[in-house]
Amino acid sequence: MSIPGRDDATARENSDAVPTRRHDFLIPPHARGEVAYMAGNSLGLQPRAVADDLAIELNDWATLAVEAHLEGTHPWVDFHEFLRAPLSRLVGAREAEVVAMNSLTVNLHLLMASFYQPTATRHRIVIEDSSFPSDSYAVRSHAEFRGYNADEAIVRLRPREGETTLRTEDVIDLVTREGESIALIMLGGVNYLTGQLMDIPTITASAQSAGVRVGWDLAHAAGNVPLQLHDWNVDFAAWCSYKYLNSGPGAVAGAFVHERHLADQSISRLSGWWSNDPSNRFEMLPTLTPVFSADAWQLSNPPILGLAPVLTSLAIFDSVGISTLRERSLRLTSYLNQLLDAHVIDRGFTVLTPSDPAARGSQLSLDVGKRDARSITRALRHDHGVIADARGEHVIRLAPVPLYCTYDDCWRVADALATM
Ligand SMILES: *Cc1c(COP(=O)(O)O)cnc(C)c1O
Repeated sequence: MSIPGRDDATARENSDAVPTRRHDFLIPPHARGEVAYMAGNSLGLQPRAVADDLAIELNDWATLAVEAHLEGTHPWVDFHEFLRAPLSRLVGAREAEVVAMNSLTVNLHLLMASFYQPTATRHRIVIEDSSFPSDSYAVRSHAEFRGYNADEAIVRLRPREGETTLRTEDVIDLVTREGESIALIMLGGVNYLTGQLMDIPTITASAQSAGVRVGWDLAHAAGNVPLQLHDWNVDFAAWCSYKYLNSGPGAVAGAFVHERHLADQSISRLSGWWSNDPSNRFEMLPTLTPVFSADAWQLSNPPILGLAPVLTSLAIFDSVGISTLRERSLRLTSYLNQLLDAHVIDRGFTVLTPSDPAARGSQLSLDVGKRDARSITRALRHDHGVIADARGEHVIRLAPVPLYCTYDDCWRVADALATM
């Protein structure tokens, strides 16, 4: 017995003001057609155009080799420049404030090397208790690097007793109460586990007014929700490109440094030849000529085969626009939430993600109660062609990604969960 409403899902799809871009992506096959892919928050699907765009670079390598640095279809020496404008539109930044480079955790380290500047009275770092493990390890290692005891230096924000997500007022309360001892607060813009979208501008402003530097890990926010990093006055941010940004496993990540820091020569940075002003980069001088953009945080010449899919993917975001995409995302996620409420919640599942659409992106996290999350995702996959992901023993995450997921995919997920 299926849950009702599959026709309604189709009707919603056909009348949505923001049509799906599913045809621009390769949807993994399943015995009964295509999978319902709810794991785009973990690894986004492959844009159809990636293969051809990569072939251009492979062909330039084959036919031009070293000359492709200057004469390639997209000259390799400037390749990261091609990503600057679309990235800046995606995260609400000035062009000079963003750069595509490295991977996410590497970028967090490079940015903390500059923006975690402990003093005699102020050395603590605040993160959320449900932060992604890599972020936990990264901040602990920075505290230890500067000679502090990480257990004492790292403050982990926890939800109130009986609650599953953080309250903005509690974050503000901590930074105003204890701000004098805090050097840095670094939170996930959208929490990877609960799907909570934090109030980035409010938290940024109040922490900064207490003298605290503010960095955001946007792994689950970039390409998911509209951001205005420049106007929100964020000090720095970093994100990966393989989740909502659909740029492939381990894709080149992104970083943001606010304009007001770009010309500040008192900020120390780790440097390499790609930190140098491009106008004399190849003069091979022994000392660095600074460049006043986020490029100053680059170290190495970038992996072109890793950057090419990011460019392909950002073109799709540009053609839809992140705020338009958010409208579809709000409708799709609310629709999935309604179906879960109607058919799944009374089976012992609870939604951990805030019910307020303004406090979440396109992910809904379910606490599976006494059941085992992994056996549920296994059954979803094998018996229903639904790809979801399990975190720990009790949480499954569902992300109806608005670019390629449909209302029918949402219906299939709810229908499958209703049998469990
Ligand atoms: C996915 C994710 C990471 C992964 O880090 P990599 O350096 O890309 O392997 C880190 N932090 C958060 C919050 C994430 O969601």
